[in-house]
Amino acid sequence: MTNHRRFSEHKLIIASHNQGKVREIHDLLRPYKIEVVSAGALGLDAPEETGTTFVANAELKARAAAEAANLPALADDSGLVVPALNGDPGIYSARWAGPEKDFDMAMGLVEDGLKDIDDRSAYFVAALALCWPDGHCETFEGRVDGSLVWPPRGALGFGYDPMFLPHGNDQTFGEMNPDAKHAISHRADAFTQLTRACFAD
Ligand code: IMP
Repeated sequence: MTNHRRFSEHKLIIASHNQGKVREIHDLLRPYKIEVVSAGALGLDAPEETGTTFVANAELKARAAAEAANLPALADDSGLVVPALNGDPGIYSARWAGPEKDFDMAMGLVEDGLKDIDDRSAYFVAALALCWPDGHCETFEGRVDGSLVWPPRGALGFGYDPMFLPHGNDQTFGEMNPDAKHAISHRADAFTQLTRACFAD
């Protein structure tokens, strides 16, 4: 079995400037009674996401925050992978929405790409990196499989949620209440791995 470094501190930075993700990570960490502070609240800059994988991008964000604040930091990098689009939008999921963060447009681009294609399978990936100020990092990757619907359905969640129908469900992530999404999401999968390895007794 791999040896993971345990988290024994009391304060953790969430190295994300995305309010939707900060809220979800905060909810998922609630049982561990850790003081959680966001990188945005600390005025930390978001580094450029130059990695070529979800894990590499999560790690560079967590590493930068941990070094800047001298505290352990947790970052995620996530996105929607569409095999029929050669994996797009993938690590570029946020960028497809443009500077206005227009996810109606981004979902429209995905749908345009799928015109005349039968394979509507897709999955969300979430990589998590927990890094300490000494440079040590633990990384995990979670995934949830589903298919893409059109038109989008539901106003809950964020990003591509309204067009993602997780396998075995009849509600999109945009229609599910947050607890139902948390139970099966890619981020929850990655979190389960992280907490088992680094937080649980
Ligand atoms: P990043 O991880 O900040 O690079 O951005 C990931 C992007 O992927 C988000 O802005 C969303 O567009 C998309 N994404 C990641 N997770 C989810 C999710 O749970 N629901 C919907 N969209 C997501």
